[in-house]
Order: sequence, then C-alpha cells, then structure tokens
Amino acid sequence: MYSALFMKRFHFWSLFLIIAILCIAYTGTYAKVEVLYKLSMPEPQTHYLEVEIQLSGYDKQELLLKMPVWAPGSYLIREFPRHIEGFHVETSTGKSLQFSKTNKNSWQIINGRNSSLVIRYRVYAFDLTVRTSFVDEDFAFVNGSNVFMYADYLRNLPARLIIHPHKNWEKISTGLQKEGESSWIYKIQNYDELADSPIQIGNHEVFTFNAAGVEHELAMVGPGNYNSRRIISDLSQIAEVCTEIFGENPNKRFVYIVHNLDRRGGGLEHMNSTVLQVDRWSYGPENSYLNFLSLAAHEYFHLWLVKRLRPAAFIPYDYDQEQYTPLLWVMEGFVSYYDDLILKRAGLMSEREYLRRVALNFSTLMNTPGRKVQSVAASSFDTWIKFYRRDENSNNSQVSYYNKGAVLATLLDLEIISNSMGKHRLNDVLKEMYQQFYKRKDAGINENDVKKYLERYAGKDLGDFFESYIYGTDEIDFEKYFEKAGLNLFDLNSENKSASLGFSFQYISANMVVRTVLRDGPAWKSGINVDDEILAIDGFRVRNDTFSKLMQNYKAGDEVKILLSRSGIIHEITCQAEKSTEVEYILQKTANPEKLPSLVFEKWLSR
Ligand SMILES: [Zn+2]
Repeated sequence: MYSALFMKRFHFWSLFLIIAILCIAYTGTYAKVEVLYKLSMPEPQTHYLEVEIQLSGYDKQELLLKMPVWAPGSYLIREFPRHIEGFHVETSTGKSLQFSKTNKNSWQIINGRNSSLVIRYRVYAFDLTVRTSFVDEDFAFVNGSNVFMYADYLRNLPARLIIHPHKNWEKISTGLQKEGESSWIYKIQNYDELADSPIQIGNHEVFTFNAAGVEHELAMVGPGNYNSRRIISDLSQIAEVCTEIFGENPNKRFVYIVHNLDRRGGGLEHMNSTVLQVDRWSYGPENSYLNFLSLAAHEYFHLWLVKRLRPAAFIPYDYDQEQYTPLLWVMEGFVSYYDDLILKRAGLMSEREYLRRVALNFSTLMNTPGRKVQSVAASSFDTWIKFYRRDENSNNSQVSYYNKGAVLATLLDLEIISNSMGKHRLNDVLKEMYQQFYKRKDAGINENDVKKYLERYAGKDLGDFFESYIYGTDEIDFEKYFEKAGLNLFDLNSENKSASLGFSFQYISANMVVRTVLRDGPAWKSGINVDDEILAIDGFRVRNDTFSKLMQNYKAGDEVKILLSRSGIIHEITCQAEKSTEVEYILQKTANPEKLPSLVFEKWLSR
C-alpha cells in the first residue's frame, strides 16, 4: 500500500521533472532556429528553379540536408535529387563552407560554429506530371517534395517561404497559407506541409466558390472547352456529398489546380489541394466530362482517406525510401469505388451510367488473368516494384488494387446495407475510423482495424472474405452480393462464339506487332512472343486491318498456321484458336424484387 503510494508520487514528480527538462531543452534548441526558403525563376525558358534556404540560430556543428526520393501518393522511387545542380553553402557573411554528399539524396554540411547558413541550389524542372515540377516561359508548377530540401532535425519546425515570380507572372495558386497581405510570402507549419502543397505560378484563370463551408479556389491552367459555371456548380456538389459522408470537412480552404493539356495525366491528392491533369477538350462530351468529375471526386475523397485516415505505415512519411502497406486496396480501391458513387449520389450521374461503370469494374477484374496470381493485399504491398512498373506481362501477373479494391468495396457496401436492413453503409465504417483513428488518436490504421470496423457494421465475421478475396485469389461469387440489391450481372459475351488467339497487337506502319500475350491462351501455349511481327495467317498476308477479317473464318478449336518474324528471323507456329474468354458485363435489375433488395438498392445509391 505504502510502496504503491510512493511509486505514484515518484512517478508524478519524476514525470513532472522530465517534462520540465524536455520543455527547457526544446525551447533552448528550437525556439531560436529560423528557416526561410526562397524560390525564384529568373530564366523560366531554361527550365531551372532557383532555391535558397536561409538558416539562422542553428546550434549544431553539422547539418544533413536531404531531398525526398518519392512523393506521397505516388508509390515509386523517382530519385528527385537527380535534377539538382550547383549545390553551394556559405555563412551569412559570404564565406563558403564545406560539404560532402553522403548518399544519393543527402548533403552533409560542416558549419562548425557558424549558426547562420545560406544554402543555394538549382533544380531542373521540365517534367509536367502531377508529382513532379515544371517551368517554362508560360508558367511554373512546383511540387515541394522535389524542389525543397529538408533536415530531419528541422523537419517539424515552422518556416517561411518567399517566392520571387518571373516578372511577367501575376497569379499564384497554392494551399499554403499567406503570411500577410502579400501573395508571395507564406508561413509554413513544417516541412511536410511544404512538401505536400503544390504551387502554380503564372497567368492562369482563377475562380473561387464556397461549398460545404469551405472556400474553394479553382486554378485553370491552359485553355480548354470548359464551362466554369458548370464546373463550379458540380465541384460544389462533390464537396457537399463528401463532407456529409464524414460529417465534417477538415479544411477551411481548398485549391484545385487543373492543368489542361493535350493529353490526360491523372491526379494527385494533398492535405488541402489537388492537382488534376486532363485533356483540354475533355469537358465537352458528356462521358469524358463525367471522367473529369470522377477524377475530381476521387482526389477530394482522399482528403479524408489516405491524407488523414492513413495506414500506420505512412506515419510519418519516410521520404528516403519505400513505405510498405497491404492497405492500398482500401486507400485507393475504396476511393475508386466512391469517386463514381459520389457523382451518382450528388445527382451528377444517371443511375444507368453508374450501373454501367460498376459492371465495367467487374469486367475489368475478370479480364485480368493476374487476379488468379496476385492477391490484392500483395498488390498493395508490392506497388513500388509492380503496379508502378507495369510491363507487357503485368496483366498476367498482377491485379490492380484500384480495380479489385473498388469491386470489394461494392460487395462490402451491399453486404453492410443488406445485413443492417438499410441502417448502415460503408460510409459509417469510414466515418467511424476517421473519428477514432485520425481525430481522437492521430494514429494510423492496420489491416485488423479495417476488418474489425467492417465486421462491426456488417454484423458478421468477415474472416473468410478476407482470407479468400483479400489475402487469397479465390474467384468472387458476385451473384450472391448483387442479389442483395435485386441486381444480376449478365455477360453480353456469353453467346459470343468468336475464335481468339489470345494476344493483343498494334499496327506499326501497317505491320502487325504483338503487344501482350494472354496467360493460358492459345498464343501463350504455342509460343507467340510479345514483339513478334505477324506476317501471314494460313498463307494470307496480314497488313492493316486484314487480321480481324481473316479471323472471322475460324471457330474455336480450328488450327491456325501463323507466319511471323522474330528479330528478323521467320518462324512458323501452329496455334489452336479458342473461344474468347473476355467478358462484358452489364448490371440488370431483376423484375419485381422483394422488399429488402429494393431497400438495399435505394439506400446504396441515395444521398
Ligand atoms: Zn487515388
């Protein structure tokens, strides 16, 4: 009893003392260190950004500066430091200091007793993707993770950023917070915020609107056939629906940076902004406009899922190396499920179009032989070496965690709605995990957490579901799930008797070249290679589009003699045609469904 009391007192006072010492140490070490980043682009036509980092009050003798090698959200080591030149460090009085490179992304500076340092370097920026940086005479697009260096020791300190834009440029769009009235000075909470806040500088169009209580900025970079009023109205709806799902919007301000290009380029999520790259003419045709909205909804949904509710493995981000998680089927797959669903629930997509897109997800999965080889958890884990490094055999050996994750989310949502008699949806699982892990504990989640919360709302054990479909590669019993919503998945190809040789091809200046060979198909079995040039079939020359005409003469089981050129050497291969295994699903509503399936269907698609 006594000793217990003593221990309690001891713990209290020792804890108090430790905290006091830590506070003194903390203020003594950090309070006086100031970090200032300066960014300029005096010669944008050369594609160089110039960076200066000023440190003052630094009380260590050495400093290890680093540049990330990857950007969160895009899981591939991209070796950003390869674009750095002219690294130089000096004291505040202009005396050069020594430094050495200690590995590909680290610079070791020996500053001795000098507490004020100025570091300068240039970054070659000519890669216009959502995750890299670019500058030319029209504009600058800066991703902090590949332009600004950091030090572990200073990573959590606040900093300032001063931007000197090119003299012809007047506009800037970024999620960073201005320090005062100037558009060119920003206060940074810590390095992670700087790395996560892309900056667009130039003379782009800027629109603002308010939705879900959040001030939104839409930066349209480059011309396109967009109707800004319609986009603003639709993006507002997306913000409202997403915010309803989680019960709150984490931002006061949000920025969309949209690059209108002559190609598509995807999107990348950030804490309070996103970058979308779309074909500048994609706003006209209804279906491609819906693809744009779906991309916007996808990145917006990430504000909650992956930017805030994250795998534990991503806390904190390690910019030096890969971070492995088996959960991208949730982080990307669930978001891929919600991107179209949000449009349907917001009234921006018809029921018919939504069901078409859901069926397409299922067709895509069933047309991927890799679904039998790789589990979706393994696909998530190995994204660094597989999903982001696709090759001619990827379809045979991999499954996409976007695609299968969206399929699984569909099944789980229907299961939860049906088992709870319409009381709950997948929304509730995500909302509660967001509250429990991000809001209350500021912690990440692991696989068991996801399973536990799904089971809580599904009201049943999901052990078999996880073993078979997430860690395993079992074929999914779709029908069972769609029946719950009074739907059935029908394959339009089920009656198709056309013969297939099991490879895809491309005409390169009238020559037919094999691009992929389908696992276990006729070409796979008979030894036709990727890059083989098909010359003739049963004595008939193949050029331009004659192949499909010739194939109409064959049925499954027929032997086909193929003459081909491989590295300039002629081969003849006999291949036995088979019935095409390709599926093309549509989702049909069953006639006169019972009360529960009708309720499930209604609840699934309603706001
Ligand atoms: Zn995503």
